[in-house]
Amino acid sequence: MPRETYAYVIIGGGLAGAAAVEGIREVDQRGSILLLGAEKDPPYDRPPLSKQLWTGGKTVAEIVLHDEAFYEKNAVDLRLATEVTQIDAAAHTIRDSQGNVDHYERLLLATGGTPRRLDIPGGYLEGVSYYRTLHDYHQLRATAVEGKSVLVIGGGFIGSELAASLRTNKLAVTMVFPSRWLVSRVFPEALGRYLTEQYRAKGIEILDGDIPLSIQRERSGYLTRTRAGREIRTDLVVAGIGITPNVSLAQTAGLSVGNGVIVNEFLQTSAPDIYAAGDIALFPEAGFGPRRLEHWDNAVSQGKHAGRNMAGARERFTSLPFFFSDLFEFGYEAVGDIDSRLTTFADWQEENKTGVIYYLDGNRLRGAMMCNVWGKVDAARALIQKNEVVSVETLRGAIQ
Ligand code: NAP
Repeated sequence: MPRETYAYVIIGGGLAGAAAVEGIREVDQRGSILLLGAEKDPPYDRPPLSKQLWTGGKTVAEIVLHDEAFYEKNAVDLRLATEVTQIDAAAHTIRDSQGNVDHYERLLLATGGTPRRLDIPGGYLEGVSYYRTLHDYHQLRATAVEGKSVLVIGGGFIGSELAASLRTNKLAVTMVFPSRWLVSRVFPEALGRYLTEQYRAKGIEILDGDIPLSIQRERSGYLTRTRAGREIRTDLVVAGIGITPNVSLAQTAGLSVGNGVIVNEFLQTSAPDIYAAGDIALFPEAGFGPRRLEHWDNAVSQGKHAGRNMAGARERFTSLPFFFSDLFEFGYEAVGDIDSRLTTFADWQEENKTGVIYYLDGNRLRGAMMCNVWGKVDAARALIQKNEVVSVETLRGAIQ
């Protein structure tokens, strides 16, 4: 027998789940809400974990999204450190790891992603950090102190941001990743190589074109052996080699799943009373076809949107989410598809890499990265959404 009936159940205590509460309450001020989170911490802002928490820009208390009074005022039951183990879509019930069975009228899946593990000897060693949660931050922070050495595995978003943060905190940082330059899936070669050299100039040892083959615990620290035959001894090892979207609940519930939980333009899954948002949602992005995005703005805007629709708003999700990063003195905001395999055109001041990189597919603008330029996301989004035939000449100075 269900323990309780909720108007809304949100599975996932991350950014999308928290934003869904706000979305629901914009439309329905009364319906009961249950928010379940697998982590023990209440929803918090994730981007500072690899940036401002290390550079002094924010404290842990400041990244917690809502205080207890918010949940009380909004009649939200918050059930943390709890995993949902089963969804019965026909009966509209969920079962959780504490043995509770609850009934829902509308359900949101916002289950996020799990860091990929290195499938090598030592890849599962205790102490090797697969960095994603506030808990991971606390653990790393306790040991990552001035003078320690750290191997950062992966040169994507987590690797590049965390390496900069750790170096700023005066650790000896080594990075190893398979590509030839940092954040290679996003940065065109010239920018990627420039930033990689900037990292070297900051004292970070960069081992590009290489991957770890084994990690071994030593008396103090770790020994990592690589494909190129290197032996790297460090006090700490932290890895960011991508995430796997948490779709197994959706799969076992019989929902349509591809490279994510498939949703329509209303963020509704193949079961009409179940919605999905954030890292797991494979959504029909306007002008781009099905896309799954693993960034902050996508989680927040989809979470809120799904919440509104669950409460009856029935609005199409047409937003083009943006994202941002800070790598030492270089910062950027980007919107649309910024895949380094597209044709790129840099409209900027070469010496300080300030300006805009446009990403084109043929003669259509697909994405834009504003480098050390702020407040231009809306202009870039509007330009992309026009979906007009463009040329390099028409783009020069278009977003400045
Ligand atoms: P990611 O950005 O996908 O980067 C994965 C990195 O790991 C790439 O450099 C990849 O190299 C490398 N890699 C893959 N296999 C490897 C191996 N065996 N050994 C060494 N390196 C390997 O993923 P992430 O950095 O782990 O970030 C996790 C998630 O958090 C992502 O979804 C990301 O979008 C999100 N995040 C976003 C932000 C932001 O928006 N600013 C910040 C932090 C995290 P290749 O590219 O050469 O394959």
